[in-house]
Amino acid sequence: MVELNHQVIKEALASLEFHTKAIINGKAVDALSGKTFPAENPATGQVFTHIALCGEEDVELAVQNAREVFERGDWSRLAPADRRRIMVKFADLIDEHALELALLEVVEAGKPVSETLYTDIHETAECIRWHAEATDKIYDQVCPTSRDNLGMIIREPIGVVAAVLPWNFPAQMAAWKLGPALSMGNSIIIKPAEITTLSTIRLAELALEAGIPAGVFNVIPGEGSVVGQALGLHMEVDCCAFTGSTSVGRKFLEYAAKSNLKRIILELGGKSPQIVMPDVVDLKTTAQHVAAAAFWNMGENCSSGSRLIVHESLKEPLLKALLTEMEGWQLGDPLDPEVKLGSMIGQKHMNNVLSYIEKGLEEGAELRLGGKQVLKETGGYFVEPTIFDNVTNDMTIAQEEIFGPVLSVITFKTEEEAIQIANDTNYGLASSLHTENIHVANRMARLIKAGTVSINCFSEGDSTAPFGGFKQSGFGGRDKSLAAHDQYAELKTVWYENR
Ligand code: NAP
Ligand code: MG
Repeated sequence: MVELNHQVIKEALASLEFHTKAIINGKAVDALSGKTFPAENPATGQVFTHIALCGEEDVELAVQNAREVFERGDWSRLAPADRRRIMVKFADLIDEHALELALLEVVEAGKPVSETLYTDIHETAECIRWHAEATDKIYDQVCPTSRDNLGMIIREPIGVVAAVLPWNFPAQMAAWKLGPALSMGNSIIIKPAEITTLSTIRLAELALEAGIPAGVFNVIPGEGSVVGQALGLHMEVDCCAFTGSTSVGRKFLEYAAKSNLKRIILELGGKSPQIVMPDVVDLKTTAQHVAAAAFWNMGENCSSGSRLIVHESLKEPLLKALLTEMEGWQLGDPLDPEVKLGSMIGQKHMNNVLSYIEKGLEEGAELRLGGKQVLKETGGYFVEPTIFDNVTNDMTIAQEEIFGPVLSVITFKTEEEAIQIANDTNYGLASSLHTENIHVANRMARLIKAGTVSINCFSEGDSTAPFGGFKQSGFGGRDKSLAAHDQYAELKTVWYENR
């Protein structure tokens, strides 16, 4: 893997090109209208390129092509071993272009380069590889019939899959959909978030280079309310996989109801708890995990552990350890390999985060760290990591997803109270639990209403672990693991009777 230093980054930046066209039927094309939209670097406030702004007519073309390719079987009817081979090549090409892809995500999203290279793009390749490898290792089933019958339960690709994606982990969220959808043999159309389009366009080009046939993986850049809606309502789209906010996720259920009852899979927001029990001994390590849960990716993370629910006896010592830990979290230029915290995604989102901080103060929470916009001289949108103490779970900052670097600290007295506070939210995506006691861990893990409970760490698990939410954090399926393959497949029964 590339060793990051200023020189390596400088050279790679100098040769960085922006591929800004839609990918439809294996070709890089302008929007049919010829329109474009500006791409802004949120760490500098500068516009650096313009990207194809597609509309309904481009969606129409992409869906038609994706459908034709699917029915012809260019990809859908390949032997699983052939799909595996080509997808593994695709993963290898992602690794080869890791620095380029990583830098695209830095300039578009303000994410720190050490994160985009070593986490986002690395995991993107790993995810494609993992699902690729599964392609020729999953068996279908035979029904337990009498000897006069043979019943086969076969999984077939669902058809044309649309994926409408967020801006916080652009390539990785694309891979979470692409891996299982391509492995099953589907055609896929991705609408990336408008503000983070470039790495997804490059992924589609690398897929073509690897040998994934034209029309199988398309990218339609544009606005959610236009391109996203057109995909959601399209009669020839068989499945929409959406990752984003709960409010937009709801619309996809309406789109399906108003059109062809397409399958809808939603990965949505969160307000995830981190519970610290009174028996925890190693506060330094715990503080490291608490910080990562709250502040990784500037808190622009659906599984962010934005509520620290700590036993009252440990609050002060843990906060002390946390404040010490945060001294090592350098905020600044995301192109600096030492930086751990980059900019917010944009000005509008930054203002939203700052208004939540205002609201926290108004409602009586006590600021222990941060709270302000900083580095204004860069032209970028930076917010300090912020910790609020004396939060009660009914406050706005404890109930609403802020999607920024804001941690709320809430105390409890009993195990029951910890669980009650943890579950007192409309969301149920992730959670962390810190304890030395395996019995407490096992008991509480069963009681927390969340798709993931990580114990003595902050983690979403690796590719083998399903990821998705309870309650209003999700609907209809799971990303990652073999569970993700099923959601891009239809079950078919083939039934024989002996003559
Ligand atoms: P968002 O506003 O819901 O946008 C997500 C996607 O939906 C974007 O591509 C957006 O397009 C599109 N969209 C917007 N309006 C639409 C409409 N009316 N019809 C169809 N599509 C539409 O979410 P975001 O601000 O990008 O991301 C933040 C949210 O994502 C947070 O709530 C976070 O928790 C969630 N998230 C969840 C997961 C998970 O796995 N559960 C992972 C990451 C993020 P444009 O933005 O281009 O208009
Ligand atoms: Mg949005």
